[in-house]
Amino acid sequence: MSASPVRATVDFGKQGKQYGHLYVPYSYNLGGWANLMLPISVIGRGTGPTALVMAGNHGDEYPGQIAIMRLLRELNPDHVTGRLILIPTLTMPAAKAATRLSPLDGKNFNRTFPGSPTGTPCDVVAHYLSTVLFPLADIVIDIHTGGRSVDFEPCAHMHLVPKGPQRDAMLAGTEAWNTDFCFLYADIAGTGLLPVEAESQGKTVITTEMGGSENVTALVHAETQMGLRNVLKHLGILAGKPVTRETLGLGPTRWVQALAWEDYRFAPESGVYENLVPLGEDVDAGQPVGAIHFLERPDRDPIHVVANTAGVLIATRAPSIVAQGDCVACIAHDVDPRKLP
Ligand SMILES: [Zn+2]
Repeated sequence: MSASPVRATVDFGKQGKQYGHLYVPYSYNLGGWANLMLPISVIGRGTGPTALVMAGNHGDEYPGQIAIMRLLRELNPDHVTGRLILIPTLTMPAAKAATRLSPLDGKNFNRTFPGSPTGTPCDVVAHYLSTVLFPLADIVIDIHTGGRSVDFEPCAHMHLVPKGPQRDAMLAGTEAWNTDFCFLYADIAGTGLLPVEAESQGKTVITTEMGGSENVTALVHAETQMGLRNVLKHLGILAGKPVTRETLGLGPTRWVQALAWEDYRFAPESGVYENLVPLGEDVDAGQPVGAIHFLERPDRDPIHVVANTAGVLIATRAPSIVAQGDCVACIAHDVDPRKLP
């Protein structure tokens, strides 16, 4: 594939701390030679692993963007062994517009990998990550939330990559976030995901779903910021001893998985969704987790969305208005990931 048109104003090989931008050329009616400017910071000292830390893959997911902005202001090279490459906001037009999809090209950035150097801005950035930044990194961290559409029980999560050192490193890194739940998830909505591309390049990929909906609580911000720092300490890139749930006086993290399509529940009709079960609560098989009401037919009984199997409600619908086919619930099941084939 041809070289990327993206131009970086930082030198990835240089020691010390740098702020700069990725210039992503694009064109619009009032800017024939315009660039998207994505802030990037590189902090390098000595030899050690490289972590590429990113958020704002989906624009309307802010806790990770804030956590990375804080980190890049507060860290200096003395805190680091190896290299940190920090990109707070991957899809800037979407983050400014508070949308999941980029308003520039209508794309879901997290479905554009491995990208293309000749496509739309999302394709071009995905290609730059796949061909320039992932090869520089040992660890790839992509901080998500449920955005405006889904509310998650805050959790670090991962794909079940093939058994071996990569999976072991991902399990340990995921647990280092110290969330109450860790989550093995499946791709039920398409291909072209950032973590899949990074996994296929053999990277230790660590991702999250830190809450969701438009209201971000102080607790979720704190969990995101503390989790990120602890993961970087666990990896040996940030100075200091990582804390564990045990040293924090917490019980072990609860590993759950939702790998079957049936674990994800979709609205059978459009209407107004009522969550019937609090996030993180256990449900029985056949138990209603939500009810869809019909504004124009108050005489009509609501339709219940039920759990297909017993498990824990790990994610729910955030906005009350639902359209037919929206994902409104995810039911996950307890698992010991170290016993999986
Ligand atoms: Zn996301």
